[in-house]
Amino acid sequence: MTEVFSGSFTQQEPIPEDAIAAAVAVMRSGRLHRYNTAPGEMAEAAALEVDFAAFTGARYCLAVASGGAAMRIALRAAGVGQGDPVLTNAFTLAPVPGAIAAVGGVPVLVEVTEDLVIDLADLAAKAQASGARILLLSHMRGHVCDMDALMALCARLDLRVIEDCAHTMGAAWAGVPSGRHGIAGCYSTQTYKHMNAGEGGLVVSDDAGLMARMVLLSGSYMLYDRHPAAPAPEAFADLRHTVPNISARMDNLRAAVLRPQIAALPGRVDRWARLYGAVETGLRGVPGLRLIPRPQAERFVGSSFQFLLPGRDGAWIDRFLGRCLARGVELKWFGRAEPAGFTSRHDHWRYAPPQALPRTDAVLAGLIDMRLPLTFTEADCACIARIIADEAGRDGVAEAADRRAD
Ligand SMILES: *Cc1c(COP(=O)(O)O)cnc(C)c1O
Repeated sequence: MTEVFSGSFTQQEPIPEDAIAAAVAVMRSGRLHRYNTAPGEMAEAAALEVDFAAFTGARYCLAVASGGAAMRIALRAAGVGQGDPVLTNAFTLAPVPGAIAAVGGVPVLVEVTEDLVIDLADLAAKAQASGARILLLSHMRGHVCDMDALMALCARLDLRVIEDCAHTMGAAWAGVPSGRHGIAGCYSTQTYKHMNAGEGGLVVSDDAGLMARMVLLSGSYMLYDRHPAAPAPEAFADLRHTVPNISARMDNLRAAVLRPQIAALPGRVDRWARLYGAVETGLRGVPGLRLIPRPQAERFVGSSFQFLLPGRDGAWIDRFLGRCLARGVELKWFGRAEPAGFTSRHDHWRYAPPQALPRTDAVLAGLIDMRLPLTFTEADCACIARIIADEAGRDGVAEAADRRAD
């Protein structure tokens, strides 16, 4: 009997009951807007900022409408404007170059390595060639580069780093939480990330001037003193007339849904580690399949799994994906010629100037990606791995038999 997997790769866990109760309380109050508070009340959005600042160890935190909004606000607050080059990973998702384009910046794409992290030699070369002053570093699919080497290089290159932590909320490098290495860390609370509010974003920073600009940009009007996790009102005095309101606030309903999830995050990270480990164990040693090594210093969140199929051509990979899908295993492929679903590639982002990225192209041509929602069990993950291993092991003979059977 051919084994088939019947779980859903897009089914997240329900919202915890305490978060539902908090959301219902907000709805009963009618005060969903973050600046609509009763006397003496701290809005859920403000309380979320305090809680998430404490969770990451950041001095300041701002809650916004999405992860993309967090990046746009951080880039703009850091001074990126019309025509400015901004470095970013060539392997990431569309909202990252999209955030750069939205503030008028020009994405300068940096190669990724076979380990799916930014290539430091290419970063140095492109920083010098472009004159960029900002790196929007995307920890794409949770792969954290050697942050000590990266930050030392960026200091030498006079580059400021904004971290895209959409896939690294709860992760760390050498004990330092992801999002705490650069001038700002941006997180998403969209359903497929590590805390689920449907949509939403958070940005942390230790820089008072930067955070004051971000608060004003987010749409605080002159109510910035209602941000307990922002700098004191004096920091806003010289900015309040000049920084535009681009209106991307978070509301109290989402914040209420999120706050109890912060305490749950470390437990979720542990569970993701077990799911990831079950897939990794099941795929280790499978011929033709390259797993991504995870460095000792990296504490990663195993909310997704990637592997490479080096040397396989597109037609083979397409058939492999079809066979896995027929057995219930939904894989994404970054080598596809046309963007599909959430998956796209640098040459699909035509708002960025075309750039030659041969090393990244070679990696993406064989890069397979899958989600690991927490609704999966370790037994599910072992089953998924068996199916992938089985289908990856089909050789030309089995394939020829398939084609005859078609
Ligand atoms: C989801 C995602 C974002 C943006 O988050 P949204 O909240 O959906 O705007 C940014 N970067 C990466 C890598 C993502 O996957």
